[in-house]
Amino acid sequence: MTVFSGKTIAITGASRGIGEAAARYFAKLGGTVVLAARSANQIETIAQDILANGGTAVACGCDVSLAVDVEALVATALNETGRLDVFVNNAGIIEPIARLADSDPTAWGQVVDVNVKGVYHGLRFAIPEMINSGGGTVINISSGAATSALEGWSHYCATKAAVLSLTRVADKEYRDRGIRVVGLSPGTVATDMQVQIRASGINPVSKLDVSDHISPEWAARAIAWLAGPGGDAHLGTDFSIKTDEGRAAVGLIETA
Ligand code: NAP
Repeated sequence: MTVFSGKTIAITGASRGIGEAAARYFAKLGGTVVLAARSANQIETIAQDILANGGTAVACGCDVSLAVDVEALVATALNETGRLDVFVNNAGIIEPIARLADSDPTAWGQVVDVNVKGVYHGLRFAIPEMINSGGGTVINISSGAATSALEGWSHYCATKAAVLSLTRVADKEYRDRGIRVVGLSPGTVATDMQVQIRASGINPVSKLDVSDHISPEWAARAIAWLAGPGGDAHLGTDFSIKTDEGRAAVGLIETA
């Protein structure tokens, strides 16, 4: 359980949901985790809890929509831990959910700032440092919405399609320099985001029962699997754990 021992993993959106689960899981696997989110108290509490359980963690307040904050996050990882091996572009938002004609242009643009520019900022500042140190992995948390259309989700579908495009381009530009870039499409996950989706009542995803969702821990295990050799066959693409095939590859379910 120490496959990430000696490695530093930075995770955005680590104050709850998938990001928190990923931070706890990487720490359990021996990694040094750098937790980033806007809720400074929340990530500090999680980091302290990881430390109390024998892990190594650092909290770094960060708004991913701001280039300067993500640049500072990468600097914190390097200054506090001496390295940066894995960067998980996980922070993302879906509110406000609204059909196009009802959408608020400012709020729509804020989703672009977080979901697209946030991921761009992660790539922009993590990749040069990883190249300097001989390589690294960036995992972009995508969604089935990247390739499908859902009512009320124009902002989310468009931004996740852009994230998939960033995954493809970054892989094309930097694979030969030791940078592994891969996306994860986790299916639906039981987090606050699904609570918001359910409250909207606007499309079939909002009608799903909580029992239809996977746990954040499953998503975390898939992220760690992609950060290891498992990700090699999926670079430049979105790997999905919506299918039994994907879940079996990660080891979440038994193979038939
Ligand atoms: P969540 O529980 O709502 O958590 C979202 C995280 O993003 C929080 O830690 C939040 O922290 C952070 N965040 C939001 N805006 C931020 C900003 N400007 N700067 C830094 N951090 C920010 O959502 P989740 O379900 O875990 O989602 C995580 C990722 O998975 C997202 O990219 C989402 O699109 C993707 N995803 C989720 C599902 C699902 O069913 N849940 C399915 C497919 C893909 P602060 O508020 O403290 O900043």
